[in-house]
Amino acid sequence: MINPATRTKTIELSQIRKMFEVTNPNAINLGIGEPDFDVPENIKKAMIESINENDTHYTPNKGYIELREEITKKFKKENDINTNPENIIVTVGASEALYMCAQAFIEKEDEVLLPNPSFLSYEACIKLAGGKITPVECKMENEFKLKADDVSEKINKNTKAIILNSPSNPTGAVMDKEDIKAIADLSTDNNFLIISDEIYEKIIYDKKHYSPAKWSDNVVTLNGFSKTYAMTGLRIGYLTADENLCEELLKIHQYNIACATTTSQRGAIEALKGPQDTVKKMVNEFKNRRDLIVGRLNEMGYETVNAEGAFYVFPKIEDEDFVSKSAKAGVITVPGVAFGSNGKGHVRMSYANSYENIKKAMDILEERIVNE
Ligand code: PMP
Repeated sequence: MINPATRTKTIELSQIRKMFEVTNPNAINLGIGEPDFDVPENIKKAMIESINENDTHYTPNKGYIELREEITKKFKKENDINTNPENIIVTVGASEALYMCAQAFIEKEDEVLLPNPSFLSYEACIKLAGGKITPVECKMENEFKLKADDVSEKINKNTKAIILNSPSNPTGAVMDKEDIKAIADLSTDNNFLIISDEIYEKIIYDKKHYSPAKWSDNVVTLNGFSKTYAMTGLRIGYLTADENLCEELLKIHQYNIACATTTSQRGAIEALKGPQDTVKKMVNEFKNRRDLIVGRLNEMGYETVNAEGAFYVFPKIEDEDFVSKSAKAGVITVPGVAFGSNGKGHVRMSYANSYENIKKAMDILEERIVNE
């Protein structure tokens, strides 16, 4: 037996994935973290063409210039971020971008402020880099939105970074503009980094998304194509940051990945340049499902916030056996505590499943658990 490195021992494999492996294949899966839509036809076509053209060689480390130009335009137009193609790195999903941030900037004794609950990979990436986690509670009374006042209280001389994720996985919360701006100001005043994971930015209902990079230079903005264009398996994302930050990030990317997949980069160019009607349709559909699931859960007595983004709801369900009972009855969900201690007493349900299936799943919960 070869001993693993100490840093590897500090983390564990995802419990969520393990759970999917053991459950009934006929169950309705509300545990999913990816859109249930297909990649739009124009994007598929662009990728097929790229292969037929034998465009299958290495690209520049930062990614194709045409793609970085499109990303630059997108940042300007949609996020009010002034960047340029030299300060953009195309990555293997937002996941790689996140890992790069941790490796490039976090080390022993560094404290990272982490919303609790939040996406599982954050904790793992911080720990692998040797950093220490300082949780900041996202309270149900604030609809799980991270508040600048709660962040401010946790800042000390060892604070090196904060991770923001709006809209949020696992709660669907969309942060308020004032809090994003206030945290951006705190990052400048206290010289810490903001790692802003904006992967769900387009999956948002009746609310505007704001990027902290609009107000602070200490920000790495992460995004990707997985959620907006249902391109999860194509593993393609990107980041932007100031020149000096980008140079350090590129070191990690260059020696680890070299460049993101050519085919996916060609698909990403088409995703940004082509029509956006499929995104609109998908978001409308998600909104209908959100209305359905929030309505049904509240009717059943499970207090649920009307989440403003992403495709998750985070009902208050204090029965510790709920997740296993629900799986047995035929509905897969994820315990909230998997996303941090403050998720205890909640369950994450994803509505990246058809309207009909969500309806069926709610009927099952009502008949087999609530009215039992
Ligand atoms: N951030 C969040 C909050 C996510 O939920 C996910 C995917 N579940 C990712 C990042 C990773 O995205 P990608 O597929 O681009 O690596």
